[in-house]
Amino acid sequence: MTPKKQEDAEQESLFELPKPARAPITTEPWGNAPTLESLSGQISDCVKCTLGYTRTHFVFGVGNPHATLMFIGEAPGADEDAQGEPFVGRAGQLLNQILAAINFRREEVYICNILKCRPPGNRRPQANEVEQCLPYLKKQIALVQPKLIVCLGLVAVEELLHTKESLATLRGRMLEYEGIPLKVTYHPAALLRNPNWKRPAWEDVKAIRRLHDELVAKQQ
Ligand code: URA
Repeated sequence: MTPKKQEDAEQESLFELPKPARAPITTEPWGNAPTLESLSGQISDCVKCTLGYTRTHFVFGVGNPHATLMFIGEAPGADEDAQGEPFVGRAGQLLNQILAAINFRREEVYICNILKCRPPGNRRPQANEVEQCLPYLKKQIALVQPKLIVCLGLVAVEELLHTKESLATLRGRMLEYEGIPLKVTYHPAALLRNPNWKRPAWEDVKAIRRLHDELVAKQQ
């Protein structure tokens, strides 16, 4: 390190530098919702995209409003649309098993999706749908303030972090969303289709449990 850089580093460690101001998520009234319950009440009749007209239920999210661990999937499927809760179908049952294997109860964590409404035929979320829906997720994250976010599958991480990297390069890396540590692992539906990914997924979730516990311990 050059003497100048050394001096700068020392200065930075001496003074707490002001954090850059973040742009507000929205100027719409729901942006001021003080709780998840209030947010849900204000947005669950959303028809900003056409999925609002084909859904059965708006699938807001479920779990502990003060969860330290937050899971983000892609979008509701048929079961989730029918029941109004994320990850309740076959992929959801596998997610519950994964959680149990690392000693989390489903009620302990927070579970939600990039989209709140089911895309017909479970197609990939479209750009305009994500553009309308992502601010809701950002507000949920701001309210829950998890210590660790886990994206389930490539679509979730692509949309939240605006990345085009492959799952292979993103898995195992320490990522970050607005200062919150973020990890990505396989989507449970992908594990149902490709059982040989279950072994690496198991390694991921064990590491996620360890990292979560470290992050929680550090901030107590
Ligand atoms: N797949 C998802 O990405 N989310 C759900 O809620 C269910 C299946």
